[in-house]
Amino acid sequence: MTAAPVERTHVEYDVLDPSFRRLVAPDATLDRLYSGMTWAEGPTFFADSGAVVFSDVPGNRMYRWSADGTVAVHRSPSRFGNGNAVDRSGRLYTCEQGTRSIVIEQDGRVDRLVDSYQGRRLNSPNDVIVDSRGRVWFSDPTYGIDSDEQGYRAPSELDGNYVFRFDPASSQLSVIVDDMVMPNGLALSPDERTLYVSDSAVTNDPAGPHHLRAYDLSDDGAATNGRTLFEVDPGWPDGFKADDAGLIWCSAGDGVQIHDASGRKLGTIRIPETVANLCFGSRRGRPTLFVTATSSLYAIDLPSR
Ligand code: MG
Repeated sequence: MTAAPVERTHVEYDVLDPSFRRLVAPDATLDRLYSGMTWAEGPTFFADSGAVVFSDVPGNRMYRWSADGTVAVHRSPSRFGNGNAVDRSGRLYTCEQGTRSIVIEQDGRVDRLVDSYQGRRLNSPNDVIVDSRGRVWFSDPTYGIDSDEQGYRAPSELDGNYVFRFDPASSQLSVIVDDMVMPNGLALSPDERTLYVSDSAVTNDPAGPHHLRAYDLSDDGAATNGRTLFEVDPGWPDGFKADDAGLIWCSAGDGVQIHDASGRKLGTIRIPETVANLCFGSRRGRPTLFVTATSSLYAIDLPSR
């Protein structure tokens, strides 16, 4: 266990719309809580303990930052764990690129939830969310099977890179989105009527998408009316979250970009490393944004709302 010294620097913002100033604190500091990872990803906040679990994907480890400032290895090897999510019961869901599956951790046990679709192995689940009904939504691009760097090189067994939804009540796995090249981050709007998914295919093809798309969800959960909300520049969109007001806080090459639900960019929180993902949580009773960016886990206090 390591009590890492926190490095504090002033946060820089690019303000494009006046409403952005209400979302951030002018005097906030960018706190580097931990560093030394290869590609930090998948932060998720445990409301009961105030801890943040996150992944170092190529490093093949998961870490736990605790509210007292200590950092411990949470799982090693993590089987190239990437995105993480916590459900309402405090169970931890992880995308394991090495086993090409979604696993669930409860009471110290890690069990496989789903690893195949119609008898064929998944590609390499990348990011995961759990909705209010306990259904598990995840993206399944090929990053974990394209090379041995963050998984094991292998051919895809599927005929596309999909966003899936797994219903634990029926054990049914459904394709929800099938029109993306490299689906990556995903989030639901606060009313769970809109699904947002990022496509980061520009990482493998300079002409590939680097945008975020929205889909209307019908009562049975089918996604319709897919439309591109915005492109991320510089870089590409990886993980992101929707806040309580429906604003989208999105990873980008220059930091965390905040867009409204129509896709309009309100501003950017500058981060000195390429951002992979983020989550909301709290520290010392204050709302906090946690950010995984390349080698580091960062935290920024947000205004109380
Ligand atoms: Mg990702």
